[in-house]
Amino acid sequence: MNELEARRLLLADPRHLSDELRDAIAREPALGEFRDELLALDARAHAALTEAPLPHGLADRLVLRARFGGSPPIRLAIAAAVAAAAIMLPWHFIESPSDELAMLDHVRESTWELGDNPGVAPSAARAALAQVGVRLADSTYRIRHLGHCVVAGREGRHFTIDGPTGIVSFVILPASKQPLAADSLRKDNLVAVYEQRGGVLLGAFSGSGMDGAALRQLMKGVIT
Ligand SMILES: [Zn+2]
Repeated sequence: MNELEARRLLLADPRHLSDELRDAIAREPALGEFRDELLALDARAHAALTEAPLPHGLADRLVLRARFGGSPPIRLAIAAAVAAAAIMLPWHFIESPSDELAMLDHVRESTWELGDNPGVAPSAARAALAQVGVRLADSTYRIRHLGHCVVAGREGRHFTIDGPTGIVSFVILPASKQPLAADSLRKDNLVAVYEQRGGVLLGAFSGSGMDGAALRQLMKGVIT
């Protein structure tokens, strides 16, 4: 086997080596380096397919097109590979971008808001919420923090209270025209419940052990 032939075989499959190819690599270090490069490329291609989030629906579109679009066999193979990669992706990569997820991530990422605790007078909170069409109920929970936050590209209101088991966050956004993607979500220990009321999307978030039902009950008691 000459070097050119060995390179051609390695290109075809750098993983499974015949005895003859193994001998050729042992004789010629450049072939070993070539194989390492191919394996590294392979790993990068695999990472690109499995680690980066796929655009939502890409796998579905590829499969549909492959199934109904009369695509040549190579496209079928690619579609199958992408579909297989999509199935292995963690749930949060498959999840379509949604207001609900954006609100959840905002609460997770804005830890300073969770710690911020100057206290907010109910009258001030009531006025700020009224601007987005929401009424603050006469509850006894102390309001810790109130922010005007931009979430999913829209300005809403974000406030935190001292809830029954710990801090509870509320995010209120002008609702988009999209239907609700989820009425509850969980990410790590953060539980979220959502409700769309007229023109607003409400979210309540607890990282202190409240379950969805209790959180929903609390939301109804705090925002009317
Ligand atoms: Zn915020």
